[in-house]
Amino acid sequence: MPTDWQRALAVVAHPDDLEYGAAAAIASWIDGGRGVSYLLVSRGEAGIATMEPARAAPVREREQRASAATVGVSSVEFLDHPDGVIEYGPALRRDIAAAVRRHRPELIVTLNHRDTFGGTAWNTPDHKAVGRAALDAAADAGNRWIFTDLEEQGLQPWGGTRWVAVAASPEPTHAVDAEAGMERAVHSLLEHRAYIEALTDADPETYVRDFMSWATGTAAARFGDRPAVAFELFPR
Ligand SMILES: [Zn+2]
Repeated sequence: MPTDWQRALAVVAHPDDLEYGAAAAIASWIDGGRGVSYLLVSRGEAGIATMEPARAAPVREREQRASAATVGVSSVEFLDHPDGVIEYGPALRRDIAAAVRRHRPELIVTLNHRDTFGGTAWNTPDHKAVGRAALDAAADAGNRWIFTDLEEQGLQPWGGTRWVAVAASPEPTHAVDAEAGMERAVHSLLEHRAYIEALTDADPETYVRDFMSWATGTAAARFGDRPAVAFELFPR
């Protein structure tokens, strides 16, 4: 995984998307003195079956901010697209391109944009829409002739994004050693307590540790037998 960069912007659909693995890599990037900001396209308000969206949105926002703080991320923004029905298209690309122009990242991180997580595990429409729009926005942010209103708002084009790294892709190409960031990643996922408690009857910590060792172990087989966070990397 490239290390010659200073700023990353992570763009995902829902609170918890970064905590299912990627946070271990983010923690070790922060250890290395890099800056990482989070952009959440929705508040994940449709993600808790036992809680109405109006109540779930502030709970999930709070959990996401606590979760980010656990790995050392203090910049967390929400775009307020509707959870579950995020639409891929110019409006989403524009909102992400605006954030790319504000943060000027060399690296954009997003979540799996492909149809499945591998095999027959079907991906969600939100992940696909946001992943694809994040890949597109890396170029959109640098083109002054599309989304011209952004420049009128003072957001200068930014063509300095050199890679988009897609977490949880079924076609990983690169990886980050997960060991250093693992404990913080476990705690960052545990911060999504209302979500996890509604999702499973298992003890939250057992659930999180089991998931994290499965996820980083799956990648390990292809990356030198060490627990790893894998990414599909798209250089630009
Ligand atoms: Zn999600």
